[in-house]
Amino acid sequence: MKIIPKKSLGQNFLIDKSIIEKICNSGNISRNNNVLEIGPGTGNLTEFILQKKPKKFYVIEKDERLIKNLKEKFDKKIIIINEDILKYNLKLLSDKDLVIFGNLPYNVSSQILANFINYSYSEFSYKKLVLMFQKEVADRILAKDNSKNYGRLSIFSSWKLNIKKIMDINPSSFFPKPKVMSSLLIFEPKINYIKFKNSKNLEHITNVFFNQRRKMIKKPLNILFKNSKKVIDDLNLDTNLRPQNLKKETFYKICLIYEKIN
Ligand code: SAM
Repeated sequence: MKIIPKKSLGQNFLIDKSIIEKICNSGNISRNNNVLEIGPGTGNLTEFILQKKPKKFYVIEKDERLIKNLKEKFDKKIIIINEDILKYNLKLLSDKDLVIFGNLPYNVSSQILANFINYSYSEFSYKKLVLMFQKEVADRILAKDNSKNYGRLSIFSSWKLNIKKIMDINPSSFFPKPKVMSSLLIFEPKINYIKFKNSKNLEHITNVFFNQRRKMIKKPLNILFKNSKKVIDDLNLDTNLRPQNLKKETFYKICLIYEKIN
């Protein structure tokens, strides 16, 4: 069956077998793992994962045309869910040995990652995420303080996840070729992370700081706190700094104080 790729669904299918194999091996899966693949597309990565014989293998694909194709190709070997990953209740698949793969549609990749982070581990547990991003987004996820890519995404992602880059991938590994480079990242849940009442508070705080990226931190602190002087003193902050100069841990501490008084 000939599938014409849909741009609106970010359909750039992997065609380079050596890259697909490397992605599959990065998951380090065995018969003890359940697997979820987000957006299996034409099943190129699915085929390789299947060879590892995971315990249960779920795929979530939004495009109905591809669902038909996947059913023909894999029959009952995989559990095919025709849903939008952004709307699907992932708690249904929660399992401490679940490995999640996704060559993600670029337009929703950060939203998908944020959804994983917003779940508490007691609601939705998993072992590992093996996800592909547009390189520019991956660079922002991995960025350290005092660098130009550092911002909301770096602070939010590192809050609950240990992150490692596996490789960059050239446009020629896909059909159709995307205009940009891609990067494969692995995420593993941190055992110890700072517990917030609501993860949306961390999103809000980093939003206030990085909307004023070039301004000194006094301004966002005044927006967030009536008594910003106390916060500045308690955390020993230098108010001449700009948001990108503050370490991730400092934002987590600011969030804890914000939650205490709100
Ligand atoms: N995994 C395949 C591969 O590597 O060749 C396809 C990857 S392609 C970049 C992204 C896939 O995600 C497409 O099959 C697309 O239809 C699917 N998709 C896009 N948006 C989605 C969504 N919101 N929920 C589930 N699948 C989605």
